[in-house]
Amino acid sequence: MNTMIVKIQSEGDSFSPQEEMALRQAGEIIKNGGLVAFPTETVYGLGGDGLNRESSRKIYAAKGRPPDNPLIIHICRLEDIYPIVGDFPEAARKAAEAFWPGPLTMVLPKSGKVPFETTGGLDTVAVRFPSHPVARKLIGFSGGYVAAPSANLSGKPSPTAAKYVIEDLEGRIDMILDGGEDEIGLESTILDMTVTPPQILRPGFITKEMLEGVLGEIGTDITIINPESSQAPKAPGMKYRHYAPKGELTIVEGSPEQVVDYVNRSAAEDRAAGEKTGVIAASDFLGGYCADVVKCVGSREEEEGIARKLYAILREFDDEGVTRIYSEGFDSQGLGQAIMNRLLKAAGHNVVRL
Ligand code: AMP
Ligand code: MG
Repeated sequence: MNTMIVKIQSEGDSFSPQEEMALRQAGEIIKNGGLVAFPTETVYGLGGDGLNRESSRKIYAAKGRPPDNPLIIHICRLEDIYPIVGDFPEAARKAAEAFWPGPLTMVLPKSGKVPFETTGGLDTVAVRFPSHPVARKLIGFSGGYVAAPSANLSGKPSPTAAKYVIEDLEGRIDMILDGGEDEIGLESTILDMTVTPPQILRPGFITKEMLEGVLGEIGTDITIINPESSQAPKAPGMKYRHYAPKGELTIVEGSPEQVVDYVNRSAAEDRAAGEKTGVIAASDFLGGYCADVVKCVGSREEEEGIARKLYAILREFDDEGVTRIYSEGFDSQGLGQAIMNRLLKAAGHNVVRL
């Protein structure tokens, strides 16, 4: 399949006539059952018609995604939620008012309009109203309901720029809209609104603290905090080893001196054994590390910067052929919870605590 790649790089909501035309064309592709990758404020999405079971099947096939890992339906107007949910409770309304458009996905009972192919066989549907102007315009031209998981091959880190989508999906989908680099860099927060209190199934940019400020008590799926839990994760996607670089990743936690010392000793052993070594570190102790490639995620004070850079760094290690990666751990409060959640999944929960 020939994949069309179109740059849409206007700032804000105003598009050039050419861009407007490309967005219309992309919408037609989705309406006709095709697939288009597009930028959002979190990561790039791979979009198809969420109400068309064949489109959803195509999304799973293009990504190599297990069919029980449901998709998120993206809307571009709040009122469009009513036809696809069985119920839109007061708490969900409040959360929508506070955080939509934006990086929050809510899980609600699904209506008969949503095929089980889109929800991975579940009776619930995940809905998001993104803020990115390209995403909103595209959804409008596509019929209003765009099912989209992240636009990566299953198991790879989510793409934060079009070049990573091209790397993974060129030749497998109809079109890629290149809207530059995504702002947030981590997937949306997923909040289950079918339980009381509402429960976080996947941490993200909208933190527990922010949700509590609007909704009161919020629960967290035990499998996010305790990976050794024998309970099955409620967000089916969480059970897969996701976000993984090709190299083996180990998270090292302890005092800064202990971490630097441990990483340097381990990296030296790895190098002696013929491995190419890499380190992910915050700016604070960067100079102390000795490895083939040392990557800085930025300052610990700026978690938003860390979130934005993390997936690109994991992919760069792949490109550079790094086979053993060590990462510092990060604070697990606020946005740090989402960062650590993704890092732990990338590492297959391989953590050394000194
Ligand atoms: P992705 O953004 O590519 O990780 O894919 C969407 C995520 O949303 C997956 O991790 C799914 O498990 C999760 N998800 C989608 N629909 C539901 C649902 N109905 N209930 C729980 N989680 C869901
Ligand atoms: Mg994904």
